[in-house]
Amino acid sequence: MKLTPISRISISDAIVEQIETLIAQGELKEGQKLPSERELAEEFSVGRASVREALKVLESLGLVKRTSQGTFVENSSPSLVAQPFARRLLLRRHTVHELIEARRTIEEDLAQLAAQRADEQDICNLEEAVHAMDEDSGQKWVEAEVYFHSTLAEAAHNRILSDVFEIVRNLMLSLADGDFEGPGKRELSKQEHLALIEAIKERDPEAARRLMAKHLDLAEGIWVDALQEK
Ligand SMILES: [Zn+2]
Repeated sequence: MKLTPISRISISDAIVEQIETLIAQGELKEGQKLPSERELAEEFSVGRASVREALKVLESLGLVKRTSQGTFVENSSPSLVAQPFARRLLLRRHTVHELIEARRTIEEDLAQLAAQRADEQDICNLEEAVHAMDEDSGQKWVEAEVYFHSTLAEAAHNRILSDVFEIVRNLMLSLADGDFEGPGKRELSKQEHLALIEAIKERDPEAARRLMAKHLDLAEGIWVDALQEK
């Protein structure tokens, strides 16, 4: 007989579960506006902090979008990130160290595969993603940074790995909360991305892997510093 351990579920996790179910059942449709935080707190008989926490998780799962006009259902079609496996991953409390460890495991392989498989279009996309890192591109550092890595994940041509990277990407965006700029590291990070593109163009998988490992050392420093300041 195989029994599964029972984990205690928090209030915000229970809210995520309910809203996710409503979306999955089609009761909440794409583009539909959710009740306000205050109304949701009343309906669920919970505090607003729990509602806010739950909305943050739903947003990082790609299921809702929070705007100044309110919270809207973003994606009502089931995707990998909405699956129970991904949700369990996300609902645990993550540390930045766990995130970087996961990135090393996944992205060093992605870089190596990209150097073996990237086509002309992938290389164009990567170069475009680097330009989004220019100060005047209007992109926030964290968005531009994460965009480059998603593009690289696509260039590895393994849809399972790029889906796994999507979970990592959502965690990065939810941890950063979209508002940190990686002070002073923007240019350095960009240079390292350019070096990665060179290794991919030269079809040098070992160099690509090594450069990604080095780049993630830099990333770890930036994320730890930025999140400690918060
Ligand atoms: Zn990067």
